[in-house]
Amino acid sequence: MSDVYFTDMKMSSQDNMASKIRKLFLKAGYHEKITDKDFVAIKTHFGEYGNLAFLPPPLLRVFVTLASECGGTPFVTDTNTLYRGNRSNAIDHLKNAEMNGFNQITLGAPVIIADGIRGNDFVEVPVKGKHYSSVKVASAIQEADAMIVVSHVKGHELFGFGGAIKNVAMGCAPPSGKQSLHSEIKPKVKQKKCESCGMCIKRCPVDAISFNDEKKAFIDSEICIGCGECTVICPYDAIPVMWKTDKNALQERTVEYVKGVNDQKKEKIVYFNFIMNVTPECDCVYWNDMPVVADIGILASTDPVAIDRASVDMINAAQPLSGSRIADKDPAMDNIRAMFPIDWEHLFEYGETIGLGENSYNIITL
Ligand code: SF4
Ligand code: SF4
Repeated sequence: MSDVYFTDMKMSSQDNMASKIRKLFLKAGYHEKITDKDFVAIKTHFGEYGNLAFLPPPLLRVFVTLASECGGTPFVTDTNTLYRGNRSNAIDHLKNAEMNGFNQITLGAPVIIADGIRGNDFVEVPVKGKHYSSVKVASAIQEADAMIVVSHVKGHELFGFGGAIKNVAMGCAPPSGKQSLHSEIKPKVKQKKCESCGMCIKRCPVDAISFNDEKKAFIDSEICIGCGECTVICPYDAIPVMWKTDKNALQERTVEYVKGVNDQKKEKIVYFNFIMNVTPECDCVYWNDMPVVADIGILASTDPVAIDRASVDMINAAQPLSGSRIADKDPAMDNIRAMFPIDWEHLFEYGETIGLGENSYNIITL
């Protein structure tokens, strides 16, 4: 059974958000996990511009302060997206982060897009799973000695909910890693859109792409290993992202990805989940619907399965908010399924099966 530390959202002049985070951090003993000269990755999500439900910069600044007090050198980080939005390369991503208020002044630490300008700066790390033998981890995150994973818990259109596991898997993967998480289907070139620039040919690690007689790119599916690199690099969107997937397989790949990242950091990774502003969609969308339940609290654990399981259980135990998307749901349906009809339990069952963490937890309330 894993320990999950919890504090509620009741604030006062004696106890505000910063002091509550500090108490959790110290009570859980996380100050002993960061040592002098450690590079500390504070992994969060900067929110797509237009979304206002993401965790605000002053909250992240508390973690920067705590990591600095331990002697660490913190930076606040995320990776580039697979879809073409405001965060698909590091330049746009940094501008988006700035527009949402994340910068050196507000955070007290630099913002680093962990997988580089084009999302091709990553390291392969080993993992023993049924889908992966290795996963791609953004270099700056892999290089960090310690990591504090700070997650906004909300609904998610693919997983049912998004918390620590989703923040680490999708959030530490470069775009090609995200492609492999989303789908095992091999890409195809839309030849009408191909401008014959040749960038995909240079990028393909197994020489599966060549020009045909019309000088349009063509993928040999017998050679292709489905790494997703060509999908990410094509500047003309001629190699579309593959989204089609089996939901259970997506959950299993996601859990295996977290295992790869988590194992690299050994004892030096901790997770904080904020159950506040529980919107139905992820912070990746450029809007946010009203929350479905009232703010619940902050959780901290070293176990990504236990902290997400506890978060889901707390959301499911809460009363749906009047006027929200789940206000008129079938009473027999849990709150997570009412947001998106997804069997979220498989994520946790598989997480325990591969030794990522435990479904049973012990709540320690501050
Ligand atoms: S990168 Fe895109 S446009 Fe360039 S050759 Fe490949 S498919 Fe064609
Ligand atoms: S998915 Fe990877 S292996 Fe397949 S064609 Fe694209 S770059 Fe090459």
